[in-house]
Formats: sequence, structure tokens, C-alpha cells
Amino acid sequence: MSWDRRQRAMLAEMGYRLPAVREAGDAAAVAAAAGAPAEPAPEPEPIVVAAPPPAVLRVAAPVAPPVAAGAPSGFAGLDLPALREAVPACRACGLCEQRRHAVFGVGAAPQAPWLVVTDPPDDADDASGEALGGDAGRLLDRMLLAAGQRRSGADATAFVTPIVKCRPPRGRAPQPAELDACEAVLARQVELLRPRVVLALGLQAARRLTGLAEPLGRLRGRVHAWRDLPVVVTYHPAYLLRSPADKAGAWDDLCLARRTTASP
Ligand code: SF4
Repeated sequence: MSWDRRQRAMLAEMGYRLPAVREAGDAAAVAAAAGAPAEPAPEPEPIVVAAPPPAVLRVAAPVAPPVAAGAPSGFAGLDLPALREAVPACRACGLCEQRRHAVFGVGAAPQAPWLVVTDPPDDADDASGEALGGDAGRLLDRMLLAAGQRRSGADATAFVTPIVKCRPPRGRAPQPAELDACEAVLARQVELLRPRVVLALGLQAARRLTGLAEPLGRLRGRVHAWRDLPVVVTYHPAYLLRSPADKAGAWDDLCLARRTTASP
């Protein structure tokens, strides 16, 4: 696979050093490898996958769990703006009790080729109502840009939303009934945004969407299925900030997601 100067700069910004840095004449890659600041990101370009898509291991789709009794009702007919307005009033599970803000998500509309589903909102998300802000959000934006995607602007292609919209108390993992209840919201987002691939960020999002209670490392590197959509698992950006050595693995995951969307 070949990368242009912009993508090399983005990869360097993620902390990933391309082996192709040895190529003569690639000043951007050489500068990045030397630790020089990456050049400002130009406007995104169409995704070009030079290599043919490799064989992808597809696993059997887990059966989507039934939506729990008491799950949000009336979401089915809502468009995206109406759904965004309805979610902050949702009281379908106990997570509504201590939330400050529900986190609906942000990104491309009315359609989003990439749907990024993150772990539940953290304290900062709960305070702001925004999905994945701060340093982790900036890293996610750089990761998406390196993959030719973006979640903001008129040409946005990705939508970022948490697996449950309200923060579990003290940051605990959401309980199965809470995940079941909030899947009604996520399912409606999927119907409206019509993504071509789902990128699961973090262990809790990954386990829910794959239906597999395995370590994150075992869920990466293959394409799962959820509601007839391909799902690729990768690290949460907050983890990558603490463990930058795993950024190379995250880049592998983004490449897998790209190849998935390029597959017929
Ligand atoms: S987590 Fe989801 S289902 Fe539960 S109250 Fe919040 S929006 Fe409703």
C-alpha cells in the first residue's frame, strides 16, 4: 500500500513510523521520522487503496439481543434531528438518574460511511454532552484523518457516538440491561446514518458489538458482524495516549476498516 505525503504526516502524528521512510526523496516522511512537526493537514482526498483487499476473516454474526422491556419507544420514526432532541429526555434505563448530559454523538449527516462507536461517556463527556473531546478526541480526529475520514465539517464522513448515551456512575461498565435499552438509540442511528463500516473503540464497545467477552487484543485484526454491518475493533484513543506504542496496531485496524469499505 502506498501513502501520499499527507497520510505520512498523519501517521507520523499518530506516532507511527512507516518503513517506507527509507524511500529517497520523501522529505515529509524523513522529517516526521526525525521528530519534526507534521505539516498542517490539507483538505482530505478521496481514499485510494492501492493494494488489492486481502482476504478478510468473517465471523458469524452474533444474534442481536432483544431490546429490553422499558427500552426507548417512539424512536423508530424519528429523523436524526428529532432523535438528537429525544435522547436527552430518555429515561429507559437507570443511567438517566445521574447523568448531567446525554451524549448523542457528532459527525456526518444525514449519512456517515464510518460509524465510530466508543466506550461509554467519561466524566468530561458527561459534563459537556460532547462525544470524545479533549486530547483523546484530538487523537481520534488525527486517526480518522489519516484514514481519509473526518467527523466535522461539511465534508464529514464519520459519526462518533458512545455505546450508551449516558455515563454509568463512577465510570463503571454498563450493565447488560442498560446496553440492551440503549441499543434502540444506536439501532436508529444506524438506520438513519447507513454506515458501511462500524469502528468499535474500546473494550466495552467492542464486546457489545461483537458479542464476544474476549480481551480487546483478541477482538482486533478481524472483521466481525453486527446487524449485517462489518465491525472492526481498535483501541480507545484515551488508551493510546497512555500507551503510544500501540498506535501502530491502531493504524493496522484503520487500514482493515478501509479495506472493508473498499470490498465489493
Ligand atoms: S443510557 Fe440510553 S437508554 Fe439509558 S437513559 Fe440514557 S439514552 Fe436512555
